[in-house]
Amino acid sequence: MKNVEKVKVLIIGSGPAGYTAAIYAARAGLSPVLYTGAQPGGQLTITNEVENFPGYPDGINGPQMMIDLQKQAERFGTKVNFGLVTAVDFSDYPLKVTVDETHTVEAESVIIATGATAKYLGLPSEQTYANKGVSACAVCDGYFYRGKEVAVVGAGDSAAEESTYLANLCTTVHLIVRRSEMRASKIMQKRVLSAPNIKIHWNTETEEILGDENGVNAIRVVTDGVQNTIPVQGFFLAIGHKPNTEIFKGLLDMDEAGYIKVVPGSTKTKVEGVFAVGDVADRVYRQAVTAAGTGCMGALDAEKFLAAKEAELAHS
Ligand code: NDP
Repeated sequence: MKNVEKVKVLIIGSGPAGYTAAIYAARAGLSPVLYTGAQPGGQLTITNEVENFPGYPDGINGPQMMIDLQKQAERFGTKVNFGLVTAVDFSDYPLKVTVDETHTVEAESVIIATGATAKYLGLPSEQTYANKGVSACAVCDGYFYRGKEVAVVGAGDSAAEESTYLANLCTTVHLIVRRSEMRASKIMQKRVLSAPNIKIHWNTETEEILGDENGVNAIRVVTDGVQNTIPVQGFFLAIGHKPNTEIFKGLLDMDEAGYIKVVPGSTKTKVEGVFAVGDVADRVYRQAVTAAGTGCMGALDAEKFLAAKEAELAHS
């Protein structure tokens, strides 16, 4: 028979939500085991400087912050394993999880912290200039472009919000909209339209991000078949996020975009003992600090659940 790992609290994912859940669960004596996923450290490992996480007056670089969170989780006894959860079976208790297609874990509780991934256009130049002018988070990186000219691509609430945020910092924000209208709510559109330094480019697609060893210096766009070059130092993607919930499809309730639905005011999913924290259950805020906050909630919810389960067993 294959070796089965038995754990009280299994945490899937290694962003701020996963590590915060681990810190709390470990300090509660629950010996959590955390599987990192394919991108250990999560989205913050592709950010430069994090300046909006409370407690770092001088900011901290994203990858360093994740190393520190991992150390803090390990200090209290979290076992951090590199591995990708490839399948789950929540039909029975204990809950079953398969790692790297081969290893089976039996868990008394599971905290899902698999996060979300920003969508990109798919241009090779997005990779070339990642962290050198290309960003998928204006709130994280916008400050580095103050006094500069930038572009935002997208036409939903995120694009509207990000471009108005950037308009307070940058000289000009070029909003690249692929159709002749925006999908964003009317009130957000109004804000965009009334900002004097946001220039909307309707019916426009981004063909290429241009730059040199110093980073991005322009984008090449096409409007109604006509090519044009816009000089910018920053290029912000705001075309949506995709929650990393593929393996939970059909097992947990999700909204139409695939974000896991939790009982409001908690991290409980529809399966007993399974909790969802961080961006995987949050399509609105998506900040490191809010992810960490719900990570804490997840650990407290799991602790309460396990205590109730234990009391139930003691009485049976
Ligand atoms: P959305 O899915 O709502 O919008 C994505 C936008 O990106 C669309 O306008 C779409 O264009 C555009 N787009 C997609 N792919 C491409 C592409 N390849 N090239 C160019 N443009 C592209 O995502 P959001 O992140 O904006 O919003 C997600 C959810 O979060 C929404 O429900 C939103 O209301 C919510 N939200 C709420 C906020 C708030 O209330 N403060 C803030 C931010 C988000 P097209 O319209 O042509 O399809």
